[in-house]
Amino acid sequence: MNRQSSTNSRDQNALHAWEEFIEEQVYPEPGTKAKEDYRNYKNPARDTVREFYKQNHRGQTFAFVNKKRDTYLKLNRRRMSIFEALDYLNTLVDDSDPDIELDQLQHLLQTSEAIRADGHPDWFVLTGLVHDLGKVLCLYSEPQWAVVGDTFPVGCRFDGRIVYHEFFDQNPDADDPQYNSPLGIYQPNCGLRNVKMSWGHDEYLYHVLKNYLPEPALYMIRYHSFYAWHRENAYDYLCDERDREMLQHVQAFNQYDLYSKSPKPPNWNDLRAYYSELINKYFPVQLAF
Ligand code: FE
Ligand code: FE
Repeated sequence: MNRQSSTNSRDQNALHAWEEFIEEQVYPEPGTKAKEDYRNYKNPARDTVREFYKQNHRGQTFAFVNKKRDTYLKLNRRRMSIFEALDYLNTLVDDSDPDIELDQLQHLLQTSEAIRADGHPDWFVLTGLVHDLGKVLCLYSEPQWAVVGDTFPVGCRFDGRIVYHEFFDQNPDADDPQYNSPLGIYQPNCGLRNVKMSWGHDEYLYHVLKNYLPEPALYMIRYHSFYAWHRENAYDYLCDERDREMLQHVQAFNQYDLYSKSPKPPNWNDLRAYYSELINKYFPVQLAF
């Protein structure tokens, strides 16, 4: 057991279920068919995921996002090395399913190793290794709907291409004339950097790492769950030329994030020396989280 037993195993299961849902039901590997129509509401196996989206779409309001940004973006909670953060992320699962512990670190390693195997630059490999470290938010007792899941802009209309869009009818911003026009509070093509995204591990980690990685890596981290943008081409009217240039990098990353499950799981101990050197090349000994 650890001090985070408040993150209960139902939450853990939902976190895991969301990832499988995205990969198998919504965006299956190119050339393969979705396991089933995800809107088949009769399938009880989908209840966890539906419940997750209900809470997410109801709770992610402009005010909520600002509150979380105020709370977390001061980055004054703790200082950790990347290795400590990886270990810390693993305590997330100590008191629940051991398989899920495997999944967290394994997911990061499998992503980075698949990127490395394709001969990409070292910063891209490193991005694979760290991209989900923002999930330490779960350890600050954040509910998982405010840590993982698709991200989307707040402060303007929720695009119909967001998964389970219908659940936004519970979101107070959907009825607020300030926020429910296509542009809402934004200027056309203002650039995504000026747009507030729903709160989760992507935005948080971007702020932790923003001084240390090249721009494409930062886009990959910040927008990897912004499926409506990188898979559905929504919200182009908020993008500037920079965003459009960077989109290809986010899309390249997504292939590895979703489809890098390897039949032979990489062994962390064998790879530690390689990653240690890579981490030291880009990051200071400690980072502010
Ligand atoms: Fe992620
Ligand atoms: Fe991931």
